[in-house]
Amino acid sequence: MNLNTRPWHELLTLIEQGEIHPREVIADLYRAIAEREDQIRAYISLAPQEKLLQECERLREKPLRGLPIAVKDNISTRDLKTTCASRFLENFQPIFDATVIQRLKDAGAQILGKTNLDEFAMGSSTENSAFYPTRNPHDVERVPGGSSGGSAAAVAAHEASCALGSDTGGSIRQPAAFCGIVGLKPTYGLVSRYGLVAFASSLDQIGPMTKDVRDCALLLNYIAGHDPNDSTSIGRSCADYTQELGREIQGFRVGVPKEYIAGLSGQAKACVDSWLKTFEELGAQVIELSLPHTEYAIPTYYLISSSEASANLARFDGVRYTKRASAASVEAMFAESRDKGFGPEVKRRIMIGTYALSAGYYEAWYGKAQRVRALIRQDFANAFQAVDILISPTSPTPAFKVGERVSDPLAMYLSDIFTVPASLAGLPAISLPGGQVEGLPFGMQLIADKFQEAKLLRAAYAFEQATQSSF
Ligand code: GLN
Repeated sequence: MNLNTRPWHELLTLIEQGEIHPREVIADLYRAIAEREDQIRAYISLAPQEKLLQECERLREKPLRGLPIAVKDNISTRDLKTTCASRFLENFQPIFDATVIQRLKDAGAQILGKTNLDEFAMGSSTENSAFYPTRNPHDVERVPGGSSGGSAAAVAAHEASCALGSDTGGSIRQPAAFCGIVGLKPTYGLVSRYGLVAFASSLDQIGPMTKDVRDCALLLNYIAGHDPNDSTSIGRSCADYTQELGREIQGFRVGVPKEYIAGLSGQAKACVDSWLKTFEELGAQVIELSLPHTEYAIPTYYLISSSEASANLARFDGVRYTKRASAASVEAMFAESRDKGFGPEVKRRIMIGTYALSAGYYEAWYGKAQRVRALIRQDFANAFQAVDILISPTSPTPAFKVGERVSDPLAMYLSDIFTVPASLAGLPAISLPGGQVEGLPFGMQLIADKFQEAKLLRAAYAFEQATQSSF
């Protein structure tokens, strides 16, 4: 019956109606994994099928009925290793579950496996994994995007019904766009990061990666909410994120930032035009506006995220968690362990960040980036005086070829140009399928004001319903 191709909400209905048993879903997922995983390489570790089959009997009465979910391998899981796709944590077995995992388990979900990523979530293609790159299921010569490329590819290849990713500057949205699925980065503070291995603490968020918008809302219902273990967690903005799905968007004001569409041409431009037409047909009003500090977003993001990364990654020293190198002195052991443990992109970020934070340079680099961040935040605050949501492509291009950008970090960083601003401003943003460019999925991004996830999902759902049969 190919139950692996169906979203959770459909599976849950079928289970409740007695049409199917969760066991059949599990069997279909493992069948797809056996068929495609050699080629796609979405996973770093997998739970044993037998264990999931056994457990699902016990979980049948819980709301999520023992259904499995894939989880990015920088989110702590008690039963499976958490490697961050780094040699340093190759054998790291956490002793606790992240809050999001605990919540999903309490609701009766099971962890199917841990998915591949760019090492410590630094990258846009999953090629920075220390183990192997993941391939895009739509064209295996291409990258799935990153850093949550394993989660996106697993969902797109139907090796998972849905997944969790993490997004610091686009790592849920850009791979969702490249793989033709839905990915939501929630408002900063909505979802607990307790148990998420920190990359840049003022930006990191966990979010759902799903086959459709309804599943995205459903998953958010289970993971959102205050957590005393995360001092940045605020609380929910809405009791049920599925509630507004299906409501019309008549009169919605959709803002098009002119800086985001200025450089687009050809098929990408045609896609944007068709999205605006769809929104108009749905009764929305399209308004062009300006986010004047957009051009500074990439340098601002890379300064702030690298600075925070250099501080966060100081804990990996060969003493705790990580693999230890043998050396003649303690100092040499630190240096040697870090040299062997971290890959080149992680080292690059640590060096940029350490430089930007160092005495004498701090004000000129990190301090200045913080001030520009405030301007970017203000751009959005002004925009949301005039519109309900903002629209743009998720990334300027569809998935690029494996190897195409590895030797050019700046070209790689540019694929985040439309995702990074919302991250800097802490805003919720979703990517969903928006048609094709060069025969590949092309993602549409919608951004809303803080804690307006219900509105964001409502607009995304209206668009999805209107376009479902056309792409
Ligand atoms: N691609 C961006 C980076 O390399 C974003 C990563 C992320 O969101 N984790 O930093």
